[in-house]
Amino acid sequence: MSQAAPDLATTLIAENFSRDATGVLHVGGLPLTDLARSYGTPLFVYDADGLRRAYRALRAAVAGFAEVDYSVKANPNPAVIHVFHEEGAGAEIASGAEFDAAVRAGVPPQRILFAGPGKSAADLDRVVGGGIGEIHLENREELFRVAAAAERHGTTVRVALRINPGATAQGGAMRMGGKPSPFGFDEEELSEAVAAVERQPRLHLVGLHLFAGTQGLKADTLLGQWAYGLELAAQIAKKTGRPLETIDLGGGLGIPYFSGDATLDLGALRDGLLPLIETLRRNPMLAGARVVLEPGRYLAGPAGVYVARVLAVKHSRGSRFVITDGGMHHHLAASGNLGQIVKRDFPVVAVSDLDGATPCTVSGPLCTPLDVLARAAPLPELSEGDLVAVLQSGAYGLTASPTGFLSHPMPAEVLVEGGRAAVIRARGD
Ligand SMILES: *Cc1c(COP(=O)(O)O)cnc(C)c1O
Repeated sequence: MSQAAPDLATTLIAENFSRDATGVLHVGGLPLTDLARSYGTPLFVYDADGLRRAYRALRAAVAGFAEVDYSVKANPNPAVIHVFHEEGAGAEIASGAEFDAAVRAGVPPQRILFAGPGKSAADLDRVVGGGIGEIHLENREELFRVAAAAERHGTTVRVALRINPGATAQGGAMRMGGKPSPFGFDEEELSEAVAAVERQPRLHLVGLHLFAGTQGLKADTLLGQWAYGLELAAQIAKKTGRPLETIDLGGGLGIPYFSGDATLDLGALRDGLLPLIETLRRNPMLAGARVVLEPGRYLAGPAGVYVARVLAVKHSRGSRFVITDGGMHHHLAASGNLGQIVKRDFPVVAVSDLDGATPCTVSGPLCTPLDVLARAAPLPELSEGDLVAVLQSGAYGLTASPTGFLSHPMPAEVLVEGGRAAVIRARGD
């Protein structure tokens, strides 16, 4: 084996997991071989300590600037939401069912906010009736639907305007502004949007929501977006004549998936926040606002693995195919079909670390050439019954996948905490 810089999988295992003396991969101190035997495969395993570590690291990095909430759609399992809730996170949800999941996980409704470009009247009734903390308005029709829901429930709803930034947000490292988008009000319509909300007696405009894009690995890019968010927030406050209560700067903090991906530098993020904190402090219209970040991927991704069992190893015209029971029906992102333009391999490893890795294709059980978990994974000799694990699988895994396609049962999900494993979704559920 070469002694060059360790590959991404090795680095990630060192950071989040471990291998025992025989080379078996452990998650939260438990061997994946045992977990696979007990709970069957395919299997998602999440390490509660890993979830907590990510949360605490980010919270410490942004302390004094923002609080950290959890974006439920990254992994809506109530047990996962509960871990973040225990750490102090509120929840950002995108549907009525996610609202229920967050409430079931113990998050107080006032600490839940609802974003998403198509909120139905039924979902709005559910969350307004449930006492949700805040709803982020993304278009004109929705503004009226929220007002109508508030009217039906005889209540006032706290709302924020989601803004799609204009071309002036193009400068520097930002590269986010000026694009057409189904999300939020275009910045050019900011004045009309503020006026339209202010005309609704049942809506109380408290803030701004800006979410510029996912998988940001550069501190500078995020800081630039957040700085722009503070500018937009100041504009909204100027128009309403009231201090803002909420400035939601979205999620979008990235994690490395591919060799060559940088790791987000939390130290650089921390250092770069000082001028932003100063901007807030100097503007009395913003100084009292609660600044919120609501990442999903960054918090949940690294602590999860997807474990699949080898069904066959086939050599076809000089290429090795490792065919497993897991695939894109549970892990669309790993297959490269969740919106990726260039399909690159997630870090995939053998659960029992046998020496002598050579590249192979890891494919799933579905009858489609799209069902590939990795195209050139460096894996040792494997045979029927061996296990492989896809790392960085705690976010946008199971519920971001076409689980109905080919009618395989849902895989189990297991949360490991304090040396114990708990089934948090039973197989087939
Ligand atoms: C998806 C989403 C997030 C979380 O995004 P990540 O990239 O996972 O951090 C946060 N806020 C909103 C409004 C979202 O739609």
